[in-house]
Amino acid sequence: MASNLKPTAESKPRPGEDDMVIDLSKMSADKRSAMEVAEGAREAKPTLPGFAQQLFMGTFDTNMIAEFPHQSAEEQKIGDVLCKKVGDYLEANLDAEEVDASRTIPGEVIDELFKMGVFAMKVPKEYGGLGLSQVNYNRVMMRIASYCASTAVLISAHQSIGVPQPLKLFGTEAQKKAFFPRFSQHSISAFALTEPSVGSDPSKMMTTATLTPDGKHYLINGEKLWCTNGPIADLLVVMAKTAPKMVNGRERTQITALIVEGKTPGITVAHRCDFMGIRAIQNGLMYFKDVKVPAENVLWGEGKGLKLALTTLNTGRLTLPAACTGAAKQCLSFCRRWGNDRVQWGLPIGAHEQGRHKLAFIASTTLAMEAVTWLTSHWANRSDQDIRIEAAMAKLFCSEMGWKIVDMTMQMRGGRGYEKASSLKARGEEPFPVERMMRDMRINMIIEGTSEIMKLFLAREAMDPHLNLASDVLKVHNPIGVKMKAGMKLATFYSGWYVKQWVNSSLWSAHNEMGSLAGHYQYIHACSHRLARTIFHYMGLYRDKLERKQILLGRLMDIGTELFAMAATCSYAHSLVKRGQDKNVLSLADMFCRDATRRIEGHFKEMATNDDHLMNQVGKAVLNGDMRWMEDGVQWIGKNA
Ligand SMILES: Cc1cc2nc3c(=O)[nH]c(=O)nc-3n(C[C@H](O)[C@H](O)[C@H](O)COP(=O)(O)OP(=O)(O)OC[C@H]3O[C@@H](n4cnc5c(N)ncnc54)[C@H](O)[C@@H]3O)c2cc1C
Repeated sequence: MASNLKPTAESKPRPGEDDMVIDLSKMSADKRSAMEVAEGAREAKPTLPGFAQQLFMGTFDTNMIAEFPHQSAEEQKIGDVLCKKVGDYLEANLDAEEVDASRTIPGEVIDELFKMGVFAMKVPKEYGGLGLSQVNYNRVMMRIASYCASTAVLISAHQSIGVPQPLKLFGTEAQKKAFFPRFSQHSISAFALTEPSVGSDPSKMMTTATLTPDGKHYLINGEKLWCTNGPIADLLVVMAKTAPKMVNGRERTQITALIVEGKTPGITVAHRCDFMGIRAIQNGLMYFKDVKVPAENVLWGEGKGLKLALTTLNTGRLTLPAACTGAAKQCLSFCRRWGNDRVQWGLPIGAHEQGRHKLAFIASTTLAMEAVTWLTSHWANRSDQDIRIEAAMAKLFCSEMGWKIVDMTMQMRGGRGYEKASSLKARGEEPFPVERMMRDMRINMIIEGTSEIMKLFLAREAMDPHLNLASDVLKVHNPIGVKMKAGMKLATFYSGWYVKQWVNSSLWSAHNEMGSLAGHYQYIHACSHRLARTIFHYMGLYRDKLERKQILLGRLMDIGTELFAMAATCSYAHSLVKRGQDKNVLSLADMFCRDATRRIEGHFKEMATNDDHLMNQVGKAVLNGDMRWMEDGVQWIGKNA
C-alpha cells in the first residue's frame, strides 16, 4: 500500500526491512508480516510502463491506443471456428437451467469439451494443446459464460488459474512435458490458495509443505477452502508455507507452489460447498494430511509461491471481464426483445422513457466493458507490457458494471425477472434466465480479488512510481551522501513534474483525430493531470496515514479506472467505425463517456465534501456494539453475542 514519503526519526527499519520501498517500522508485527509477504510477492516489472499507471502520473499516452488492437484475419478465424463449434454444441446438448437445478455438468458434455480441446486452450501447441492467444481464449470463455456460467467457471478455474497457466509461466521443461499433455486427455486442475482463515490476506497461511529428510519429497498438511474443481481435480496447484528464510537475522515467511496429484493419499474432500450461483461447480473444503509430493513438483522455486499465485491472477483474472461482458450482451439481447414485446400502458415498455434509459445504459456500458476486455486481452498477449493495473481495472470495472446491468435487466423484466426460467417455461413463456444470471453474476465481485482488494492493489501500484522515486531518501540505513543525492534528484524531478500537472499540453491539444469523441479525449488528458496532482497532494497531506484512507484511495482508483474505460471505449469505437461499423457506435461511446465523466466529477466532489469522518465514527460505534439497540425487534438468526 501507499506509504509515507518522509521518514521520521523513530521510523528506522528493522534489519531486513531496508530492501522494502514501504516503511514497515511503525506497523504492528501482524501487519508488518502481511506487508512483507504482499510486497515480496509483487510481480517484477516488464520493460514498458503500463498505460493506466501513466494515467495516475499525469500522462495520457494516446500512442498506446492510437490503433486499437484487432486480431489478424487468420487469428480471428481460429477463434470464430472454435466459438461456433463450442456454442453450437452447448446449445444443442447442455440445458443450463438443468445444470443449475441439478448442480451437475453432465460428464458427456465435459468429455466432448475435452475432445474439442477446450481444456487445453492455453496449452502451447508443442505440448498438444490449442495454443490460443489470450484474446481467442477469452472469446471462447465469453461465449461459454454467456450460456452457462457454471461450465465457464469449471473451465476457467482449471485454465485461467489452475495448473496450465502457472505451468506455462513458470514450469521447467520437464514439468511442462510431464503435465501439459494431460490437459488434452482428461485432466482437470484446480488452484488452492484460500483457507478458512486466509482470504484476501495470504500472509497467515496455515498449510505447510515440509521437506522430508532425504530432500526428495514435501509433506503437505493443512486445509484449503472453496477450491473450485478441487473435489474432482486430477491435478492441483497448492500454495503452502515452506521453511522460513532468514533475512538479516529475521524469519521471513516462504510460500511455495506445488503441483499435486489429486489422487494422492491424504487428500480428502471434507465438504462440497453449495453456493447462491454457479451452482454446478465442484468446489470444496479439502483436507491435506501428510500428502507426499515429489520435490520436483515445486513450481518456480521455494518461496516464490505467492508471487506465482499473484502473477497467475494478473492474467488469470482477465477471464472474468470476458465472462461479465458475455453476460451483459445476453442481458442487452433480452432487454431489447422484451422491451419491444411487452406492452404496458399502451406502449412497449422499452419505449417508455425509463425503459429507453435502461436500454441506453446497458448498451453503452456493454460497449465499454467489451473495449476494456479486448484491449487488456490484446495487451496480455505481449510479453513486454505491464498489464497488472489494466487487468485489475478490467476485473473491477466489468464485475461492478456487469452486476448493475443484470440488476437493471431484472427490473426491466419485472416479475418475470424474479421467476425461474424453468417456471416460466412450464407455463409457456419464454424462459429468459435472468434470475439465474443474477445469482451467477454476483460472485464476480468477490472471486479472484474482491472489489475492495482490487482498489487497494491498484492504489499500491499507482503510487509505485512515487515510492520508487523516494525510496533512496526513505531508507534510513542509507548513508547521508546517498540520501542527499537522492533528495536532490527527487526535488529536481518533482519541481518539473508538479508544474507540468498544472501547465501542460491538455490546455491546447484538441485531439481532433478522434472526431466526435475528441472532447472525451481532451477530458481524459486534462483529468489525468488533475488526478496525478490530487494523488500527490494527498500523499503529502496524509503521508503514512494515506494507506488507511481506503475510501479516499478508492475514489482515486475509481477515477483512474473510469478514465481507462473511457480511453479504451473511444479508441475501440473509433477503430470499429474505421472497420465499417455504423456510426451508432460513436453515440454509444459518447454516452458511456458522459456517464463516466459524471461519475468522475462526483468522486472529485466527494473528495472535497464528504461524511468520511462521521461514517468512520458511526462504523466504529456499530462495531463496538454501541448501536445494538438498533437490532431489537427481530428474531435473531444464529449466535448473538
Ligand atoms: C464460489 C467461490 C469460488 C472460489 N474459488 C477459489 C479457488 O478456486 N481457489 C482459491 O484459492 N480460492 C477460491 N475462492 C476464494 C475467493 O478467492 C475468496 O473468497 C476471496 O479471495 C475473498 O476472500 P474471503 O472470502 O475470505 O474474504 P475476506 O478476505 O475475509 O474479506 C471479507 C470482506 O472484507 C473485505 N476486506 C478484506 N480485507 C480488506 C482490507 N484490507 N481492507 C478493506 N476491506 C477488506 C473484502 O473485500 C470482503 O468484502 C472462491 C470463493 C468462492 C465463493
